[in-house]
Amino acid sequence: MERFDAIVLGAGIVGVATALNLQKRNRTVALVDRREPGEATSYGNAGVIEREGFYPIVFPRKLGELWRYARNQEAELHYNGRFLPKVAPWLIRLRAGSSPRAIEDYAAAMDPILAHAASEHGVLAGKGRAVELFRGTGWIKGYRSLAHFEADTKAHLALAERFGVRYEILDSHEITDLEPDLAPVFARAVFWPDTVSVASPGGVTKAYARLFEAMGGTIGQGDALSLRRESDLWMVDMGERKVAAPDIVVSLGPWAMDLLRPLGYRYPLAVKRGYHQHFKPRGDAALERPVVDVAHGYVLTPMRQGYRITSGIEFDDRDAPPTPVQIGRILPQAKALFPLGEAVEAEPWMGSRPCLPDSMPIVGAAPRHPGLWLNFGHGHLGFTLGPATGRLVSELITREMPFVDPAPFSPLRFR
Ligand SMILES: Cc1cc2nc3c(=O)[nH]c(=O)nc-3n(C[C@H](O)[C@H](O)[C@H](O)COP(=O)(O)OP(=O)(O)OC[C@H]3O[C@@H](n4cnc5c(N)ncnc54)[C@H](O)[C@@H]3O)c2cc1C
Repeated sequence: MERFDAIVLGAGIVGVATALNLQKRNRTVALVDRREPGEATSYGNAGVIEREGFYPIVFPRKLGELWRYARNQEAELHYNGRFLPKVAPWLIRLRAGSSPRAIEDYAAAMDPILAHAASEHGVLAGKGRAVELFRGTGWIKGYRSLAHFEADTKAHLALAERFGVRYEILDSHEITDLEPDLAPVFARAVFWPDTVSVASPGGVTKAYARLFEAMGGTIGQGDALSLRRESDLWMVDMGERKVAAPDIVVSLGPWAMDLLRPLGYRYPLAVKRGYHQHFKPRGDAALERPVVDVAHGYVLTPMRQGYRITSGIEFDDRDAPPTPVQIGRILPQAKALFPLGEAVEAEPWMGSRPCLPDSMPIVGAAPRHPGLWLNFGHGHLGFTLGPATGRLVSELITREMPFVDPAPFSPLRFR
């Protein structure tokens, strides 16, 4: 048996950043995953570190919108009808989390941690030699009509004003000035200059994992479900090795409840599945930054592999086979926006956003087991927040003064 100060389960962006933050606090750490680091959800996202992510993805309140989604023909949302009864209780809680009051609470809780998201990445990227993967060019959210722009942005921009987060409203000429290869399909756009993006979220996660190993950390393959308690220690099998520690952090993203449910926890974690596919540009067309086509719910991000289109939300069982109809619906819109050529891969990639109904992650001590710590449920913002919540949970474990108020992320809030 090899003894460590802490074991981190799951080597996505959240787990890797947690391991690094504990290591920085002089803890010996073993990082355990059944795959190589950064190959699950943290591989396939849009690579955006959203400074303005203080407005949640809400349940539609207008009947017209509900009816549009109910038809199940939209690009931004797709669902498996047979799965709906299973996810219905979660959707009801999401609806409660979509009231104006709940949105205010969410914004107030999230702004302080979002203000640190890029700089916490920066600390790791500098040491992990990943800086060249980062772009400080902001991102653009484009609206195809003035009416949609006005209806969709009012509350969000008011919050940006309150928090002092910079933005610029662009007309169609100004959009073309910023991104000359975009077709003039947007009537208006919001440019968020303080949002950062990367050319490979999986590559960034792997670079952080290499840094962790170079600094003396242990990474090994193993099944988190082998977790057990022996005397005062948590123990996990890592291949032939057995690793043990007094503290263990669950950073299993969409798989967190596979481990926690048998331990008696009932957190309302659902998944919003999403897809991506890369395309080569036609000719020498290029983008400097990610672009969101808000009406169709997709993001187009320049990546190392090509131009990555990431889809909106799909509700289905996490483990059901992929049904990438959304990519098919998006593609004509995306091709009319930017000159995309042939696909890089034959089939789209699929991943699952681990989502709680109040759209915030769970970060803190598990209430029923000493030394069991939780850091999961980052939803649409896991790549953004991984380094920041990795720092927060590490500070809670080492009993330091936390750099942001941990109360909104408390594991006790769903009791
Ligand atoms: C299409 C799409 C676009 C997105 N775009 C963005 C974006 O632009 N910006 C942003 O901030 N977020 C984005 N997200 C969300 C973000 O990707 C996730 O929130 C984030 O990756 C979650 O990270 P994680 O480390 O919690 O989970 P993961 O990266 O999934 O890591 C969990 C790890 O646990 C491991 N694991 C699971 N079960 C076991 C087991 N039994 N034993 C051992 N290991 C196990 C897995 O192998 C995996 O490595 C997007 C998500 C999707 C799907």
